[in-house]
Amino acid sequence: KRQRLRKPEWIRIDARSNANVSKVKAELREKKLHTVCEQASCPNLAECFSKRTATFMIMGAICTRRCPFCDVAHGKPMALNPEEPLEVANTITKLGLAHAVITSVDRDDLRDGGAAHFSACVRENRRLNPQTRIEILVPDFRGKLDRALEELAQDAPDILNHNLETVPRLYASCRPGASYQGSLELLSRYKQQHPEVATKSGLMVGLGETLEEIVEVMKDLRAHDVSMLTIGQYLQPSRHHLAVERYVTPEEFKQLEQTGYELGFESVAAGPMVRSSYHADRQADGQRVD
Ligand code: SF4
Ligand code: SF4
Repeated sequence: KRQRLRKPEWIRIDARSNANVSKVKAELREKKLHTVCEQASCPNLAECFSKRTATFMIMGAICTRRCPFCDVAHGKPMALNPEEPLEVANTITKLGLAHAVITSVDRDDLRDGGAAHFSACVRENRRLNPQTRIEILVPDFRGKLDRALEELAQDAPDILNHNLETVPRLYASCRPGASYQGSLELLSRYKQQHPEVATKSGLMVGLGETLEEIVEVMKDLRAHDVSMLTIGQYLQPSRHHLAVERYVTPEEFKQLEQTGYELGFESVAAGPMVRSSYHADRQADGQRVD
């Protein structure tokens, strides 16, 4: 068995809890809402919660896929809760979020992949939280893209995010059931439909890809009109998940960020601890996140 790589000193996980973290957690429990922050054991949880930022996970905590890097539970999906869009909006009001990220597990069991439910969440938030910037981080809607785009068109967010996660060569091992071209198509077709909405994507690195391959993906994203990018280090959630092949250095992240700007991205967040929704508020303002 291969030995696990030691974490370098630039990987810092702030596990400290504080009053704000407990408050947000209590609020979420009370409403029975799930966040990715908790479900995916995000290393930034304490930091984000203490700044009262959170990423909501809608449509249950059980995914119909089984990506070997992901810590979300999989199995038989839960029934959709029609009250959830309103509950999410109410919680965002209570937490006073300026920027909320709403995402979901994959729902391959639903005819529209859950797109109408996303639209309903945006709608309730527009109604109750007109000041809050809404980012939706959507699954790939594989095999139901036409229907999903139709449903998503009902209520547009401020940012449409869909992560490519890794380079095409590693899709078979990292994203079984997903399609690189299909994900690019989702991003470009959405942008054609909604030129006013910023589109965003993200990559994990350290899974065995080369830096050249990452740059190729960045070019593909630009060719499909994506303007915002996140790149972060993959961290193994447990020893049952894909192993980390390597730790990309802070200098390499800097280089990738610079390349991203040269390629024409309007916002690039690249760094060891960057996650798709990390400092999403500042990314949206075009500020640097590190
Ligand atoms: Fe949650 Fe995203 Fe922050 Fe992680 S980076 S704690 S998922 S808001
Ligand atoms: Fe995790 Fe998304 Fe894969 Fe489901 S589809 S296992 S939530 S990465």
